[in-house]
Amino acid sequence: MDVGFVGLGAMGQGMARSLLRAGHRVSVWNRSPAKAEALAGEGAQAVRSPAEAARGGLAITMVADDAALEAVTSGEDGVRAGLPRGGLHLSMSTVSPATTARLAKAHAAAGQALLAAPVFGRPDAAAAAKLFVLAAGPADALERARPLLEAMGQRVFPLGDDPAHASLVKLTGNFLITTVIEALAEACALVEKGGIPPARLVEILTQSLFAAPVYQGYGKTLVEERFSPAGFALPLGAKDNRLLLQAAEAAGVPMPLASLVRDRMIAALARGWADLDWSSFGRLSREDAGLAKGPPARAGT
Ligand code: NAP
Repeated sequence: MDVGFVGLGAMGQGMARSLLRAGHRVSVWNRSPAKAEALAGEGAQAVRSPAEAARGGLAITMVADDAALEAVTSGEDGVRAGLPRGGLHLSMSTVSPATTARLAKAHAAAGQALLAAPVFGRPDAAAAAKLFVLAAGPADALERARPLLEAMGQRVFPLGDDPAHASLVKLTGNFLITTVIEALAEACALVEKGGIPPARLVEILTQSLFAAPVYQGYGKTLVEERFSPAGFALPLGAKDNRLLLQAAEAAGVPMPLASLVRDRMIAALARGWADLDWSSFGRLSREDAGLAKGPPARAGT
């Protein structure tokens, strides 16, 4: 298939490469052109605007946040201007349900469709085409996009015809991950103070009651304090927490755990950890317990 790919960050690069490996013809655009030029050397075609990437009728966006998605979608250089009538915008960034709903409406008014398809999985999963995709939008749009989604992911979870539902489920999943990070960090600090290596606790938990990827992955990250380079940067994690709390407030759903995580993330950002992985806020539990020595390791140090 001919597809345009907009946003070649930590996730987008691996996803675009998966499409190339699966034999699709991929036009790429990135705000900083060097990343698009790198992929051009691997068979993609670098283009000059999101609109140009969308000319073939199908465009994928994978950018940082709501403002970035708005910037690459709207305006004369945006995806919406480039897509022909009948075109499809596959919106894979993690953004608010409200933004997804608004953009879906604008595409519909232009005779186009938006399929929201945010993902679970970090850059390594993106590079290995092992993402889990949450897909919501018109049924025919999902069928049209399916070969692309299957080239990038290991499983597609359909969520019905309202695109905002995919964004809401994605934010809810990330909320649960943050509660796991906080709970694991507190538990590890307690056993460490009690004289038991936290690595042993994580080993026991993940081989018994908690044998799940999130406990395994973040347990290892916390114990080894592997926060750099960031797979998912703390400011993006804070963005997801903020969007979740906004959606929760709008729906009249108190989420006290999300509020607690919000404060943890603010504290981590205040310590200058913006270039670290989002799980670095878990280190605050060690600090609070008087266990952490010095700042966490950074790339290149
Ligand atoms: P990233 O490495 O920070 O990349 C962000 C991308 O957005 C870059 O291509 C960046 O362009 C672009 N961008 C930012 N602001 C822009 C703007 N105003 N206009 C145009 N482009 C803009 O982020 P990522 O980790 O790939 O995440 C991308 C999306 O996937 C986010 O919504 C994130 O929440 C979600 N996600 C991430 C992970 C993960 O583990 N990393 C997992 C699941 C979902 P430049 O290169 O020019 O900066």
